[in-house]
Amino acid sequence: MGAGAAYHLTRRGATVTVVDGGFHGEATRAGAGIVCPWVDHPEDDAWYRLNREGARHYPGLVEELGDDIGYAKVGALLVAEDPAHLEPVRALLLRRHPGAPEMGEITDVPTPAGLFPPLSDTLSAIMVPGAARVDGCAVRDALLRAAVAQGAQVRTGTATLTPTAEVILHPEPCPPDQPERPADDGVRIEADKVIVAAGAWTGEVCRPLGVELPVFPRRGQILHATLEGVDTAWWPIILPRKGPYLLGFPDSRIVIGATVEDVGFAPRVTMGGLAEVIEAGLEVAPGLINATVTETRVGLRPVYAPGHALIAPLTDRVVVATGLSAYGLTAGPFTGEIAAALALGETPPIDIAPYAPATR
Ligand SMILES: Cc1cc2nc3c(=O)[nH]c(=O)nc-3n(C[C@H](O)[C@H](O)[C@H](O)COP(=O)(O)OP(=O)(O)OC[C@H]3O[C@@H](n4cnc5c(N)ncnc54)[C@H](O)[C@@H]3O)c2cc1C
Repeated sequence: MGAGAAYHLTRRGATVTVVDGGFHGEATRAGAGIVCPWVDHPEDDAWYRLNREGARHYPGLVEELGDDIGYAKVGALLVAEDPAHLEPVRALLLRRHPGAPEMGEITDVPTPAGLFPPLSDTLSAIMVPGAARVDGCAVRDALLRAAVAQGAQVRTGTATLTPTAEVILHPEPCPPDQPERPADDGVRIEADKVIVAAGAWTGEVCRPLGVELPVFPRRGQILHATLEGVDTAWWPIILPRKGPYLLGFPDSRIVIGATVEDVGFAPRVTMGGLAEVIEAGLEVAPGLINATVTETRVGLRPVYAPGHALIAPLTDRVVVATGLSAYGLTAGPFTGEIAAALALGETPPIDIAPYAPATR
């Protein structure tokens, strides 16, 4: 989100400094990369709208960045053991289709294992061809590279705010939740406006302003495996109606995730978390039994307790943008554009009233 804001700000000619602590638990590094907004939030139009627009933002962004951000429209297979369990989501997709034709024509897939060979052959499936996957690290890095090419500075360290929203940069990265807080030896960064897009740490960062933002971390553990010699780059995303999702990337890589845990700032991979992902993943895709486990990742999804995204001016100097929870790779770059517009005093590309702090 911060990289997206920097990119959009520099495109409009603003002078930008990005401060990133590179904290362990950054959600973007762990994110799976599913961009398929039409299947979720059946009762929440504001959430749906943000994610739908986030997904729409990507093709243009890919063209502008001209970089490989791992984005590909590979489609998504919604799968269930009992075909009746697919009917509610089919009805939802058909209802949303006129307003989002980019999801493509929804079709039944009689043999889903034909498209994703390790899948169980007992599953029924419907295809959403417009769904895409993206590499979170690659999109973050490409946005930052483009921002730097347009004049942004990137500084590593911990940013803190004073009560009047002056930004102090402490050179040692140190998450605000850890007891070793940076000493009061930071340097002030000149800024007319400040965007706080600090993910799960946003509440802590904003506290000196005298506001309590109930933003908390929701841990996700996720597994990367490879199927040597198999081209997985164009396999569709597998979205079971229950349980873990699976998606393919180039380099024979399969990503399986993720746990959903409210355990505070504890970005750790646990035996229990991995067991849960592996067990449920093998149930959906038993053909992965011999896949090589290459990597585990863990990230803290930023959740705003009232349940919606949080994108708003907080004071006359500070804009806050967070709370994208499990949808930040879908909506992050677009939300960065909204935050940039707010910082510049421009009208954002969509109505942001639903994303205001709940206490106001
Ligand atoms: C396992 C997992 C799977 C996911 N899968 C998907 C998916 O398939 N599709 C999807 O759309 N979304 C997915 N998400 C959600 C998505 O990853 C997040 O919503 C998104 O990455 C949040 O981005 P962010 O920029 O708000 O926060 P983050 O990526 O957490 O970035 C916050 C940054 O702020 C920095 N920071 C914080 N405080 C300070 C400070 N005081 N000073 C300096 N720097 C600071 C941190 O170092 C960090 O780099 C997933 C998340 C997880 C964990």
